[in-house]
This record gives sequence, C-alpha cells and structure tokens, in this order.
Amino acid sequence: MEPNGVARRWLPSRESRAPIRERGVIARPDLVVVADDTLLADSAAQPVAGCDADSTVLINSTQAEATLTQTGVSHGGRVLVADFTALARETTRTLASLSTALGVAAAHLVGLTLEDALAGLEEELFPHLTASQRASNIELAQAAFALAGSWEPVQERLEPPAVVATPLVEVAFDPPRVAVPSIYAVGNSPERKTGNWRQFRPVLHPELCTRCWICFVRCPEAAISLDAQDYPVVDYDECKGCLLCVHECPVHGALTVEKEVR
Ligand code: SF4
Ligand code: SF4
Repeated sequence: MEPNGVARRWLPSRESRAPIRERGVIARPDLVVVADDTLLADSAAQPVAGCDADSTVLINSTQAEATLTQTGVSHGGRVLVADFTALARETTRTLASLSTALGVAAAHLVGLTLEDALAGLEEELFPHLTASQRASNIELAQAAFALAGSWEPVQERLEPPAVVATPLVEVAFDPPRVAVPSIYAVGNSPERKTGNWRQFRPVLHPELCTRCWICFVRCPEAAISLDAQDYPVVDYDECKGCLLCVHECPVHGALTVEKEVR
C-alpha cells in the first residue's frame, strides 16, 4: 500500500496483504503505540526499546508528555499523547474497544485513510460484534481518527537504521568456583523422554509442507529436525506436544493435531 501516493524508499516495518505471523521484535520501529502508560516504567516490557530520533511513540495516557518523558520515553523522537481510554468509554461504554481507537489512530499515523481503517475493522473485528457494537465502534473509529487528524504521519526513513544490540539485563559474573554448579550424577537428560508428557501430537502432511522451516525454528524443545529433503521430522521421544509448531505453521493443514493414544 502506498499512503498518499508516496513511494517508500525504506520502511522497516512489516506490511502484507496476507496475515503476518512474524512476532519477533522490530529493531528500529517507526511507530510504537503504547496502550497503557504504566508499561513505560516496566523494565521487563520496555515498549520503546529500539526507538530513535526518527521514531514516533503514541501513548494512551491522561498524563502530560513531560511527565511521561521523565518516566520512560527518552528516545529523542516525537511523543504523542492522548486519552483514548476516555474516548472509548464515552463512545462504546467499554474498554474492550480501546484497540479500535488506537488502531485507527495508528492507521492515520502511517498515512492510511479512515476508509482504509474501517475496511480493516470490517475484515478483522466486525464479524465478531453485534450490530450495536459495530455501530459504536464505527463512531469510535471516526472520533479517534479526528483526534489523531492534526498529527503529521510518520516520516519515512531514507536509509536503513543501524541495528545495535541492547541487552535486556547485564549479567554479572562470579568466579567459576562460585558461579558454576557442582554436578555429582552422570548426565541423564537424554534419557528423559519428555514425549511421555504429550497429550496431543503434531502430524506432518508432506504433500502440503512448503519446507519453510518455521516449525523447525520455533519448536522450543528442538524436537524437530530436517530430513535429507529438508522436510521437518518430529522426534516424538522429545516432543512435549505444546503444538506451537502447528500454530506457527503458515500452511493450513501441513501440520495437524491428533490425540495421543498409548
Ligand atoms: S508440539 Fe511443541 S515440542 Fe512438539 S514438535 Fe511441535 S513445537 Fe516441538
Ligand atoms: S512450518 Fe509448516 S510448511 Fe513450514 S516446514 Fe513446518 S510443516 Fe512445513
């Protein structure tokens, strides 16, 4: 999509007409939307991590920008603050619609129109709402778009930003005598067949598999390897049956779920 007819030279975000399944971090975000300002001071959340002077941070808050800057937004870029919670409450009488308001405001900031945003809501949200909820969400979308209307859309980056690793925590090292555990028993973890825990098993259907390796990469147990043709192979001795691979697989039916029978 080309908002405002402007060709983009660099856009380090993820856009697709198909569902986006990548959930990893974005190293240098153009736009971050913070739905709850208490997250700003949360060292585990770090919602503005990776932001730089070219990033815009939109915060749902009743606090002043100066206060928020002291509590956790100091990336040097633009900070936008508005009380979308009150808007959602006034318009729809529920906070469940907060994401409608923030999503529409974000749509404006990336250069989309209100019609674009409503089309997205029509596809993603409205099939799950009653007629009156749908009407109030449209009203909220219009109000949120109007609220955000005075903000300039996010500027495109002209060059790829440098990516600098920022460790979440600094690990302090003790000398080995203190820090290294003492192991007195012979290593036995390979003997633990964690597959015994499984209640459901993932089953591969090679005729549908595109060999994208997403299941192989995402399996938290490293229970998936690749065969000589690069098809995934599940080690059922180790697979715990978390089914993450099934959820992450982008091809419907390539991995299905079967009840474990022993
Ligand atoms: S079900 Fe979980 S443990 Fe088993 S292969 Fe899939 S991702 Fe790995
Ligand atoms: S994620 Fe799905 S399509 Fe990709 S390799 Fe695994 S089973 Fe095949």
